[in-house]
Amino acid sequence: MKKVLKDINVKGKKVLVRVDYNVPLDASLNITNDKRIVATIPTIEYLLEQNAAIILISHLGRPKGKFVPEMSLKPVAVRLNELLGKPIKFIGGDCISEESKKAAANLKPGEILLLENLRFHPEEEGKDVAGDKDKVAMEEFAKQIASMGDVFVQDAFGTVHRAHASTSAVVKYVKDAAAGLLLEKELKFLGETLESPQRPFLAILGGAKVSDKIGVIENLLNKIDAIIIAGAMAYTFLRSQGVSTGTSLVENDKLDLASEFIKKAKERKVDFLLPVDHIIVNKVDFTNKQVPQDAQVEETIDEAIPDGFMGVDIGPKSVEKFAETIKSSKTILWNGPLGVFEIDKFSKGTITLADLVAQATDSGAISVVGGGDSISAVKKAGVDKRISHISTGGGASLEFLEGKELPGIAALPDKK
Ligand code: AMP
Repeated sequence: MKKVLKDINVKGKKVLVRVDYNVPLDASLNITNDKRIVATIPTIEYLLEQNAAIILISHLGRPKGKFVPEMSLKPVAVRLNELLGKPIKFIGGDCISEESKKAAANLKPGEILLLENLRFHPEEEGKDVAGDKDKVAMEEFAKQIASMGDVFVQDAFGTVHRAHASTSAVVKYVKDAAAGLLLEKELKFLGETLESPQRPFLAILGGAKVSDKIGVIENLLNKIDAIIIAGAMAYTFLRSQGVSTGTSLVENDKLDLASEFIKKAKERKVDFLLPVDHIIVNKVDFTNKQVPQDAQVEETIDEAIPDGFMGVDIGPKSVEKFAETIKSSKTILWNGPLGVFEIDKFSKGTITLADLVAQATDSGAISVVGGGDSISAVKKAGVDKRISHISTGGGASLEFLEGKELPGIAALPDKK
């Protein structure tokens, strides 16, 4: 178990907090979605209660080691000020400039300082100015960051799968470190779900590609009781079993692997569920996420898809079949949409399943939803508040589910 915020003494200390303020900005630099900023408020408020001086550090976008004015964290400072109703000190330009260091040195208990985008420095990502790998430079940068605070709090779940200066290296150079409240919640739900789930334990995987989720399926097959595979991924599995899939997205180089997974599931007595019917269409405008006026949309009678058509959502029989499994599950992990849910006509399967997962949660199951699209889907279905845990980091939560060691978590000290 890793140390969490409440395990370390932050009273009156200078606390460096790695947050994930990688927020979307429009052309006029307005923040179009502030959920990542809102998500850090509990940790900040706890630290304020403890009379700590708070130094927030984050990246935004991919400035590739150079100062890019459009990727400044300034708009975040403004939004954070509105959210907290407290002044936020912000030093633009360079997070380790003399001015930044001075501001950190002069910061008083109860005050908040936000430093500039870490990735304006190539060393943050372990590179030198020329873009070549340079671990020594990364350590040096991490030391400079660390020198501004007494203790370090990691609360940027979205970046803990990266071995960067502000995620893993920095921990070595501070007196103490811990997971913040947001990261603690992720570790609790993802960790406990995987380690000691209430059974039956169901995984629902959707999305575009089998290749993105190979590691996840491999790891989960050792832990779960049932798996539902839908979305475009399902067609590679159906094709591997000799089912006709028309023009649906099939990864031909993953057919053997798909068969192998089905075989493994059988050996391990894992119930392996694939769609038994589909919503199909003969043409879709994927770029604009539209169905052309003259397109033919139909429902299949079974799992087979006729030539010239592609599967874009699960059909009603699949929903019925999956519903039974969802209702009888005590732990449900869901990642990836079950169809092209961005198009309303093809979102019914995903939305209905989101509702079923929420109903199961109301009846006592633990539900964990991860991945940007699945999160949008539970929101679109209006059930996001009824899900036990919505995981914030896309890549990080997938790597966690793969059973990989995440550098930003591994670096944190263990509880005594
Ligand atoms: P991922 O990023 O792997 O979770 O994939 C999400 C994408 O998969 C979404 O943009 C969906 O539109 C897409 N998707 C889901 N089902 C299908 C399908 N049957 N055919 C094509 N794309 C799909």
